[in-house]
Amino acid sequence: MNDSSTHFPTCILCDSLATYDAQQISQCVCPICNTYFIDYMYLARLYSTRGDIYNRHVLSSIARRLSENEMKFEFTEEVYKQFKQNKGKYPGLDIPKTPDERMDSFLLYIKAKSRYPYDPITIDYLLDYAVSFCVDTNEFQNYLFYLSDPRIERIKFNYINPQNHKHIIAHKVNGFGKCFVSITVPGWQYVQKLEKTNIDSQHCFVAMRIDPTNTELENAYNLAIKPAIQEDTQYFCLRIDEKTTAFPDSETNIDDRIFVEINKAKFMVADFTDDRPNVYYEAGYAKGLGLTVIKCCNAKDVDKLHFDTRNKDHIVWESGKLDVFRQRLAYRIESEIGKGTYTGE
Ligand SMILES: [Zn+2]
Repeated sequence: MNDSSTHFPTCILCDSLATYDAQQISQCVCPICNTYFIDYMYLARLYSTRGDIYNRHVLSSIARRLSENEMKFEFTEEVYKQFKQNKGKYPGLDIPKTPDERMDSFLLYIKAKSRYPYDPITIDYLLDYAVSFCVDTNEFQNYLFYLSDPRIERIKFNYINPQNHKHIIAHKVNGFGKCFVSITVPGWQYVQKLEKTNIDSQHCFVAMRIDPTNTELENAYNLAIKPAIQEDTQYFCLRIDEKTTAFPDSETNIDDRIFVEINKAKFMVADFTDDRPNVYYEAGYAKGLGLTVIKCCNAKDVDKLHFDTRNKDHIVWESGKLDVFRQRLAYRIESEIGKGTYTGE
């Protein structure tokens, strides 16, 4: 008797025909999820409660994305517990939630495989819906149609054999879904803008007045801003004066260096205390790149804020309550950006 792949005929994450090897941590090979690893005893228990897995399609997509990037997705009870506790987040991966985010993630995926606009990339729309975190092929196909609509065409979506189309409903999962997808020139331009938002970056750029003699601001940075970013939410915190360079400031253009670092960041924390023009400028630049800018200001300067930034979304802080500031900033980062994975170098 072949004991290796017969106990569980379908993938626990997507119901496709799949093979498991009966090891303690079993390898599952699935046409949708690719390859992932699962605790075999846990798998046995999950099988008895089928259909009751929280955000199952997201787990399937995580497995798919990680294995495509040659990383290992190990699905254990502990991983599942964490996943559920974090409301469907997974460390180091941005999980697209809205239709727009799912389409964006698909465009990024195709562009990463393309050498140039209109480079034809083969996909299988019956099997590849997990690359963009779709629930099923139906959701995925509708995005493909939407993105290839001539009015806003971002991709070309060509069936290898147009006849295949009429088989979609009649024959799910039987290899009829092969097609070419290529990114159009407007699509390419669009994705380039998306790429600037640096979804994989773990850097946070801090824009603020830098003056070593200003103890109030230095304390705010060292006791609240930096620990909120680096310790509480786990992003690498960068203020431009902390970036060591081979040459003194007088020999390099500090503005160029600032913009290079902002280009690499995932988001920005901007402190508007003392009303510095460079902070407005850097924050505006970051916004233009599509980065989230988290704004703060000392209570004494709130009235000086320029009109267009003076609204309730500033985190207003006081010198005597820096622990409160740190906590509020950490909460804001976590709710707007999510937690990072930076743990020191
Ligand atoms: Zn699967």
